[in-house]
Amino acid sequence: MVFTWLKNRRRKKLLALGVPDSWPKVLQSVAQYRLLPASERDKLLPVLRVFVAEKSFVGTEGLSVTEEMCVTVGALACILILGKEDFYFDKVATVLLTPKEFRAEERHDLGGEATLVEESEHLGEAYQDGLVRLSWADIRHEVEEVGRGCNLVYHEFAHQLDMLNGDMDGVPDVPRALQSRWQDTMAREYERLCDAADHNRPTLLDHYGANSEAEFFAVATECFFDQPVEMRHRHPDLYAVLSEYYRQDPAKWFS
Ligand SMILES: [Zn+2]
Repeated sequence: MVFTWLKNRRRKKLLALGVPDSWPKVLQSVAQYRLLPASERDKLLPVLRVFVAEKSFVGTEGLSVTEEMCVTVGALACILILGKEDFYFDKVATVLLTPKEFRAEERHDLGGEATLVEESEHLGEAYQDGLVRLSWADIRHEVEEVGRGCNLVYHEFAHQLDMLNGDMDGVPDVPRALQSRWQDTMAREYERLCDAADHNRPTLLDHYGANSEAEFFAVATECFFDQPVEMRHRHPDLYAVLSEYYRQDPAKWFS
C-alpha cells in the first residue's frame, strides 16, 4: 500500500512537470505518433512521461542509450495502452536495446519431457519476468513509415499484455463480457491464418502468427494498429474484438 501511495505521488509530480522540451522533436520523427489525432497525442504524453521515467533502458552489445531511443520505444509501447486507464506496463521493469538483431535461444516443446533448444536471430523478445529486448536498428526503420503492417514494439508489448494474466497463450486480460466472442473469433481467425500459411497463400496478417496463438495475438495487434483500415475490411470480426479489448479504433486515424 505504501509503495502504491508513493508511486502515485511520484507519478503526480512527474505529470505536473509535463514533457521535456526536447521530446517533441523526437516524437515528430516517429511516423506512428504523427498519425495520431491531437486528442490521442494529448493522452499519450503523460503516459509516456511515466513510462520513460519508470522503466530502465539498458544498452547492450556496445549500444549507448539515448533519449531518442527511450522516447521512441516508449511512444510506440504507449500507443497500445491509450485506451487503458492508469496503466503503464507496471510489470515491465527493463527494456534492453541491442544495436541490431541478436541471437537468442528458442525452446520448442516436443511433448513429454523432451525440449528442443535452438539458437536463431531475433529482432525482439518478451520475457515473463518483465524484460523486453529489442533491436534498435529495426525500430528506427519502422518509425519511418506506417502501414507496412509490422511493428516490433507493438509485437513485444502485446506479448507483455498477454502475460498479465499468466502464461503467454494469446489470451490477455480480456474483460468477462468479451471472453466468449474473443475465444470464438481468435480461434477461427487463427485457423484461417494457419490454413493460408500451410498453403502458402498471401495474407494481410503475417504468416509468423501461425506459429502459435500467442504469436497470432501479437501479429494481429501489429496489423490492428498499423494497417487498421485493411484489417477492418478483410477481418471485421477480428478488428471488432481487438477494438473492444484495446478500447481504440485506429482505423479512424487513417481517414
Ligand atoms: Zn512474438
